[in-house]
Amino acid sequence: MSRILDFDLNEARLAQRRTRSDQAYGTLPALTDIQAAQASLPRPASPSFLSGRSDKDTVTHVVNDIVTALTGQALSQRYYGFVTGGVLPLAEWADNVVSMMDQNVQVHLPEQTIATSVEDSALTMLVSLLRLGDEGTWKGRTFTTGATGSNVLGLACGREAVLGKKLGDQGSVGELGLLGACMKAGVTEIQVLTSAAHSSLSKAASVVGFGRSSVKELRLSKEEPWRLDLEALESALQIPGTASVIAISAGEVNTGRFAISGIDEMRKVRELADKYGAWIHVDGAFGIFVRALEDKEGYKLLHKRVEGIELADSITVDGHKLLNVPYDCGMFLTRSHLTLQSVFTNPNAAYLSSGSQDSIPSPLNIGLENSRRFRALPAYVVLLSEGRSGMAGLLANMVELSRQVAAFIRDSEHYELLPDENADLDEIFMIVLFRAKDAALNEVLVQKINETRQMYVSGTQWEGQKAVRMAVSTWKVDVARDYKVVTSILAAVAAGKQFDLDSCQD
Ligand SMILES: *Cc1c(COP(=O)(O)O)cnc(C)c1O
Repeated sequence: MSRILDFDLNEARLAQRRTRSDQAYGTLPALTDIQAAQASLPRPASPSFLSGRSDKDTVTHVVNDIVTALTGQALSQRYYGFVTGGVLPLAEWADNVVSMMDQNVQVHLPEQTIATSVEDSALTMLVSLLRLGDEGTWKGRTFTTGATGSNVLGLACGREAVLGKKLGDQGSVGELGLLGACMKAGVTEIQVLTSAAHSSLSKAASVVGFGRSSVKELRLSKEEPWRLDLEALESALQIPGTASVIAISAGEVNTGRFAISGIDEMRKVRELADKYGAWIHVDGAFGIFVRALEDKEGYKLLHKRVEGIELADSITVDGHKLLNVPYDCGMFLTRSHLTLQSVFTNPNAAYLSSGSQDSIPSPLNIGLENSRRFRALPAYVVLLSEGRSGMAGLLANMVELSRQVAAFIRDSEHYELLPDENADLDEIFMIVLFRAKDAALNEVLVQKINETRQMYVSGTQWEGQKAVRMAVSTWKVDVARDYKVVTSILAAVAAGKQFDLDSCQD
């Protein structure tokens, strides 16, 4: 039996899920290691270029040169850059099984492989975990390469549906193309109406032919730029000759805040979309996981912010962020499987026909790729093994650490909590935004924090000034330990002192 499939041989590694010991992995490699790795890469001018190497030499090169020059984002428990998530040991194990079995999950072949059924089962568990209603509601659903991929699917479905409504029986965008469809439907402008959208929404708008300039920011106010201005939304929807997709940011990347404040606003958006024939796409890459938190007093406000997401037409979910599976993994859900198929049908390839009458569609007809990885398996094992309470627990750790650090920052004389020092800490999910009060320190704050190599944060801009984002997204969070290390680092940086990890020993 392959070593991968032997539980006993893998048990110690899998057990890390329960021990979560702080092994103080560095967040970043040393710059000298990256330079050494760079120098070790094959050079076309070298006589040995592409002349082949033994397995042993190749492995040694990868282990000694390349691995040492990779970021520690998956190993460190305090890598708070971007929103990367970590990799649960079981997910890493499953990903190795995926590589070993190398399934090509493009055609539903129920008598040859269980892969498509496992993928569907993972999506069923996800829909339930996120409390998105009955299984039957999200008939259009598939695994993607990530939230960007899912946003492309969302806008493509929106394009198909909103122009389809105007075209009636004159055809579809999938058949006619965007130009032909717009001309027939008398549409002169397509708009994506949003607030504080992730940059990938603009990329998606370019890919699907709307253009990046179709993305219109309808921010409620300077103070709450993440919130969607519903009056501006209605005015935009009324513009003659337009067709519109409403893109709701359910989790804005700088602040973690939400475009919609609660169910009343979401119902209003649904009403407007129905009245003006628009499509509602929710980008819930990481934010939608609020819905997997327990029903507890401390999460009431957050739960309110994601109420009504089930009223959307399509939803983006990221797997490789908060679900803590490896890259690449995202999910896309839509109520309208016919719309999804209308866009992505891979026609006239008899050799790719599943011949199955089963209800599971072949993935190649509902997504971008034909041949594709069995990326559903790591998500499947995480959902299966963690269940509702395991996932809720992992997420609760992220929230708890974020809120404790936010409270420290709010009460600190050196730092300022953003976007609003007076806001209820219950608004915080797993992103903490802040800056140093001292302008000179603020200029170099990200660098000073990251130099410790025991904590990594991303820099960003807030209201025209530099700011720091701490995004807590790994299963490795150990609230008490990480709070101590993070606050010690922030204190040392503010005092201009060297940080010493040993000073944080209990
Ligand atoms: C991360 C993120 C994306 C892009 O996701 P990828 O997985 O990197 O493609 C899109 N939207 C939001 C809100 C995100 O946080």
